[in-house]
Amino acid sequence: MKKSPQPSATRSDFPIYKKMESRVRTYSRAMPREFTTAEGPWMTDDQGGRYLDFLSGCSTLNYGHNHPVLRDALLEYIREDGIAHSLDLHTRAKAAFLTELNSTILEPRGLSFKAMFTGPTGTNAVEAALKLARKITGRQHVIAFTNGFHGMTLGALACTGNTGKRGGAGIPLTHVSHEPYDGYFGEDVDTAELLQQRLSDPSSGLDAPAAFLVETVQGEGGLNVASAKWLRKIARIAKEHGALLIIDDIQAGCGRTGHFFSFEQAGIAPDIVTLAKSLSGMGLPFALTLFKPDLDVWEPGEHNGTFRGNCHAFVTATAALRHFWRNENFQQDIRRRSDILKSGLEQIASRYGELASVKGRGMMRGIDVGSGKLASEITAAAFDKGIIIETSGPHDEVVKVLAPLTIDDEILANGLALLADAFDEVMTPAYGAAA
Ligand SMILES: *Cc1c(COP(=O)(O)O)cnc(C)c1O
Repeated sequence: MKKSPQPSATRSDFPIYKKMESRVRTYSRAMPREFTTAEGPWMTDDQGGRYLDFLSGCSTLNYGHNHPVLRDALLEYIREDGIAHSLDLHTRAKAAFLTELNSTILEPRGLSFKAMFTGPTGTNAVEAALKLARKITGRQHVIAFTNGFHGMTLGALACTGNTGKRGGAGIPLTHVSHEPYDGYFGEDVDTAELLQQRLSDPSSGLDAPAAFLVETVQGEGGLNVASAKWLRKIARIAKEHGALLIIDDIQAGCGRTGHFFSFEQAGIAPDIVTLAKSLSGMGLPFALTLFKPDLDVWEPGEHNGTFRGNCHAFVTATAALRHFWRNENFQQDIRRRSDILKSGLEQIASRYGELASVKGRGMMRGIDVGSGKLASEITAAAFDKGIIIETSGPHDEVVKVLAPLTIDDEILANGLALLADAFDEVMTPAYGAAA
């Protein structure tokens, strides 16, 4: 490894943020530094400290920070007076993105989707998906799943499981039920079968659903993975009961699980797909709702927004599809790095027996230590070693690694070695001889 992380000394006083920024801030509490520049998997703070980014903006920076190909495409576009904002007027940047999305991603996968540019955040893509499903079916009820996370606006929040987040709504969150996700009751209970039984029973009390809203890997919910078999069954049940299948691929998509879409390996064809986070490839806000062409029943302007299709994001997203996804090797690279990540985490977990287990899929994996307190102590210890990393799960009990997909194999392995030290520092005293 050429460059090793060197975190700066703790600096706890940030008067301007304390004075001006709302208490609602989160990540900056656990990582109290002022960051200035970033490149690839590295972030630098104002004291010159270097950090290895194992958070990647929650999977928004799958290609790392400021990838030169994406950055240069954007700089050139701006220098040539390319249009920054156009509402939804036609622009060359938009045409290039749609063309590239179709030829590089959709057509080779045998997928045919209409693309709807929503407001720039993931939650907006989810809102659009929910509205569309309700409009098409004339039904109100939506089936979401335990530990699901879909965003903070009211429609998407109603589909989100987390009590703390739901509490912020201030009004009842209705018209959604949260059915047990794959594995919720352990390996022996087929939760798809339970759902099928209840939907087929006219007296179960479960209203006919407009849609099923599913993550194939629950990013915020603790890296729970739905099996391909369960996903296929859920897809079949949705169809049988006249509900549309929405895959929320906002965190798991754009290569995070090894393929562009996280549902590819299950061989299902969702009716609606939401994308955001890494879609622009460079951290620029950009969200997209894709749906089968025959579902395009919108009236012009029925779902609207000022920032629909950020032209700068079109440019970087197009460059990312061209640079990474036209090239078969990229998916092989992700698979190889996923193996490094998996075996590195398994090695760490194996030292603590029953007390730690590896979860997740692809480059979206972590270690469940069964306690939010321990997990946050581990991420704090890792931060002291120069690793930016967060927790996930209902009790924040999973230490989650979301390294850039482009990270150098050796840098990844070295980061995992530092993470192993952080685990050791926390787990060994916590469990003594048991660990
Ligand atoms: C992050 C996320 C969202 C919400 O996206 P925002 O851009 O934060 O609104 C929705 N669904 C999933 C699966 C996510 O990870």
